[in-house]
Amino acid sequence: MKPAPFDYVRAHSVDEAVRTLAEADGDGKILAGGQSLMPVLALRMARPQVLVDVNRIPGLATITPTGEGVRLGALVRHARLIEQPHHPLLAEAARWIGHTAIRSRGTSGGSIAHADPSAELPVVAAALEATVHIAGPGGVRVETATSFFAGPLETTLAEDEMITAVDLPVPSRWGFAEFSRRHGDFGLVLVVAAEVDGRWRLAIGGVGGVPLRPAEAEQLLNDGADVDAVAAAAAAETQPQSDIHASSDYRRAMTAEFVRRALAPHGKRAAA
Ligand SMILES: Cc1cc2nc3c(=O)[nH]c(=O)nc-3n(C[C@H](O)[C@H](O)[C@H](O)COP(=O)(O)OP(=O)(O)OC[C@H]3O[C@@H](n4cnc5c(N)ncnc54)[C@H](O)[C@@H]3O)c2cc1C
Repeated sequence: MKPAPFDYVRAHSVDEAVRTLAEADGDGKILAGGQSLMPVLALRMARPQVLVDVNRIPGLATITPTGEGVRLGALVRHARLIEQPHHPLLAEAARWIGHTAIRSRGTSGGSIAHADPSAELPVVAAALEATVHIAGPGGVRVETATSFFAGPLETTLAEDEMITAVDLPVPSRWGFAEFSRRHGDFGLVLVVAAEVDGRWRLAIGGVGGVPLRPAEAEQLLNDGADVDAVAAAAAAETQPQSDIHASSDYRRAMTAEFVRRALAPHGKRAAA
């Protein structure tokens, strides 16, 4: 199928993009890399009247070290994340996103806004409690990733708001483990373990509507519990749905295994 007809506006500034969205009165959509939006339009799962192309807005494709971490402009392509030296966890996570063509077009802002609970960047953002910078008609607001993701493909973004950047701290130690049927597929289960300011955090993708932060498992981890206990607690905190790819029980079992794998580089290995 082809998308339903729409007007195309190329925005040259964040202000212009936000103003155009506001004028569209709920019928506008930002076009960034198009790697998630275009399939949605082609399947006519969305029929926006106006597409606001933000690709030519200057200054949004930068990766800036901030001291504690990095600020990712909304237009940083996934491929650039792999090459940058500032944030090794982001580089590793980005390697797992789709295929070369998708990584050359897809953007950080688009991935965070699309909020697929099986996508790599939202899970990293949840683990690191990233700060999302959002521009709207009333100015700029910031929100942590923890509250930003509201459900599967749902965020707190208003229809006339745009992500401009995301701040992510660099963890002192981290692990990333993903289980997918083929490299490039969305993960059935993906786990990020990250130590920030001396405390470990876990985030798990693919097991619920938003990236899960398993509170009890994190507590056990920080109390020095054996990794088997941490993995079992994390799995127990998930409520995955069964679908054509995997049953709920299978995803839960894979959660335990991939928590172990994410922690393995740090000597937090299963006892067996
Ligand atoms: C075959 C295939 C496989 C894929 N595999 C993976 C995978 O394994 N892992 C993964 O993470 N992703 C995967 N993707 C998705 C890919 O990573 C997308 O690039 C990403 O989800 C969206 O980024 P985008 O820049 O393409 O956004 P777009 O498709 O342009 O936009 C996506 C949504 O976000 C909104 N949006 C975009 N930018 C902004 C912004 N700055 N502010 C507010 N809203 C915005 C759009 O309006 C739209 O609703 C895959 C895609 C395809 C087609």
